[in-house]
Amino acid sequence: MRITVIGCGYLGAVHAACMAQLGHEVLGIDVDQAKIDALAAGQAPFYEPGLPELLAEASATGRLRFSTDMADAADYDAHFIAVGTPQKKGENAADLRFVDAAVTELARHLKPGAVVIGKSTVPVGTARRLAELVKAAQPSAELAWNPEFLREGFAVEDTLRPDRLVYGLPTGDGGIKAKQTLDEVYTVALGNGTPLVATDYETAELVKVSANAFLATKISFINAIAEVCEATGADVTQLADAIGFDTRIGRRFLNAGLGFGGGCLPKDIRAFMARAGELGADQALTFLREVDAINLRRRSRAVDLTREILDGSLAGKRVAVLGLAFKPDSDDIRDSPALDVAGQLQMQGAEVIATDPKAIPNARRQYPELTFMESTPAAIAGADAVVLLTEWKEYRALDPAATGELVRGKAILDGRNVLDPAAWRAAGWRYRALGRP
Ligand code: NAD
Repeated sequence: MRITVIGCGYLGAVHAACMAQLGHEVLGIDVDQAKIDALAAGQAPFYEPGLPELLAEASATGRLRFSTDMADAADYDAHFIAVGTPQKKGENAADLRFVDAAVTELARHLKPGAVVIGKSTVPVGTARRLAELVKAAQPSAELAWNPEFLREGFAVEDTLRPDRLVYGLPTGDGGIKAKQTLDEVYTVALGNGTPLVATDYETAELVKVSANAFLATKISFINAIAEVCEATGADVTQLADAIGFDTRIGRRFLNAGLGFGGGCLPKDIRAFMARAGELGADQALTFLREVDAINLRRRSRAVDLTREILDGSLAGKRVAVLGLAFKPDSDDIRDSPALDVAGQLQMQGAEVIATDPKAIPNARRQYPELTFMESTPAAIAGADAVVLLTEWKEYRALDPAATGELVRGKAILDGRNVLDPAAWRAAGWRYRALGRP
């Protein structure tokens, strides 16, 4: 098929490359010239495992091209909308400026029978409104909403082999046509038996935000239990193992620690609450306010625990911060708990030396006042305390004895509950973690 992907960020760039890999003729469009230049040169504009290789392969086939000019979309059959839907400044609601601008501009160039496919995460009601806009510009065009569930760090795999496909479709012949187009785009995944839920716009939009609300709630649930564990001396990691054996509960997403962040969960649960409020259903989602609050409390708790292992004062103490990205295997620092904690430590008087395998350039732009070191040993050298905030593999594998040789004070905060407390304590460290004695 001939498809465009409009918005080439973490979602769109991966989607464009994967679609080309699957045999489609793809044009990626973005307003960011630097991003498009990098992609056109076969370079990934951000860190995502497997993306550079995929871009190289897809570019070599000649099936993947990039442009900043929406007019180039004119003779394509299907158009994915993958632009950002960030949180509005000073409010919980989603900022739909980019989606509205992209669809409005695209609508001017749609050829008869084209299908517009929304991928961005949007408040319920958006697709129905945009469908009218599309129809007004090109009456024989259709709009579908096809939410995306990829995980950064696994984006290529998740896009090539999704665990489910959801189509939000218009009613009548338009819906049949839009479904045919989507089925053709996803021929490979459907052939592999990927479950498909074909439904209306509203259900499709709500599937996405409900999934994120559920995941956020699961994380905040275990972090709330971690607070109670801290008050009693119980161990939340053993507790999570024990409850996780119940298949109705499951162990995944039950890792207590610094909580969630990134460009999706925090803003999606806030936008969900805001939209429910507009719809008069705000009571249904008041629990998400608590989910958000529990999540943010973990960050201040991490700062407090760092002060505690430094004998009650951060002032003038050298703190090595391991990890800045919101999760491992990503350079994404949007609403990153790690970066937030690093900033708070510095603000409260510590001298922060921060490191991360991939996120330093992004972190430096947001917090130029922090000191950054590329290498882990350099960041740790001479530290009064080490705080592990993003669970990159290399930090999980740190050796307590060797690390002890580098520091000035053997104090460590395990913000992600990924180290072996016994091993660190045996090597003479003062070890603290969230939700563990
Ligand atoms: P992003 O900020 O990385 O990318 C958005 C891109 O859209 C940017 O490159 C921006 O320049 C471009 N853009 C903005 N306005 C444009 C316009 N008018 N025309 C063309 N391009 C335009 O964001 P992202 O993380 O890729 O997220 C995109 C959407 O996908 C969001 O709604 C997000 O919630 C959703 N989503 C993201 C993920 C994820 O893991 N990142 C997963 C599922 C869903």
